[in-house]
Amino acid sequence: MEKIKVEHLVKAFDGPEGKTRAVSDISFSVEEGEVFGVIGLSGAGKSTLVRCLNLLEKPDSGEIIIDGDNLKDLKEKELTKRRQKIGMIFQNYNLLMQRTVLDNVCFPMEIAGVKKKIARKKALEYLNTVGLKEKAKAYPATLSGGQKQRVAIARALAAEPEIILCDEATSALDPETTDTILKLLKQINEDFNITIVLITHEMRVIEEICDRVLVLEEGKIAEIGEVKETFESPKTVALKRLLLTGQSDVLLSETS
Ligand code: ADP
Repeated sequence: MEKIKVEHLVKAFDGPEGKTRAVSDISFSVEEGEVFGVIGLSGAGKSTLVRCLNLLEKPDSGEIIIDGDNLKDLKEKELTKRRQKIGMIFQNYNLLMQRTVLDNVCFPMEIAGVKKKIARKKALEYLNTVGLKEKAKAYPATLSGGQKQRVAIARALAAEPEIILCDEATSALDPETTDTILKLLKQINEDFNITIVLITHEMRVIEEICDRVLVLEEGKIAEIGEVKETFESPKTVALKRLLLTGQSDVLLSETS
């Protein structure tokens, strides 16, 4: 079943030479329960694309259809409810530094009006899921990068999301910690049937947990398909370049 359908999505920004399209007429869909990866060079439009999915960025034109409903057609209240079911995890964790780990995880439930006692009980369960129950009373500043990202994942889970968008979620982490976070994402994908859309500049992140991959180049789809097939027989220069280095940013700095 299609969880997310994107049709003719366009998003442009004002640049030094007038409007430039960060995302240029993109159409694709993501199946329910899938881990879907988006990879491309720095500036390819990955972040803009993923931010359009939950309307953090308002598309200029095109459709975002979730569970068969076009987000454009939803009334404000319904749209807010839908957006609450789309969690997001960022490279820099976006934790509230003045709050304890537990209170960070309680935050989305506070916004949703969940009673404090129930919220705390659920938050502890989510912290248990990510293996951080013993850090409930700690402050984010005392945690490692991997632990901070676990808190961010627990906080995303607290909104009982159906979709989680990951924007370079492991890019600030060392390889070993990256592996443990990817395993955790795969586990919550399977245990909670959460559809995951993940953007990254690292090939191995895609190889590790994604079912399908979309290769983005200058705001357009260069390739899309099953990870193994796509990486084994790259058809475009964009993907061949990525395969050469494994990291799109390395390539960009070497060629620019
Ligand atoms: P990626 O995530 O692949 O690195 P982005 O989506 O961040 O790519 O950026 C795509 C293009 O859109 C880039 O040229 C970038 O400079 C531009 N862009 C992104 N966000 C903005 C913004 N808020 N204002 C102006 N230009 C932007």
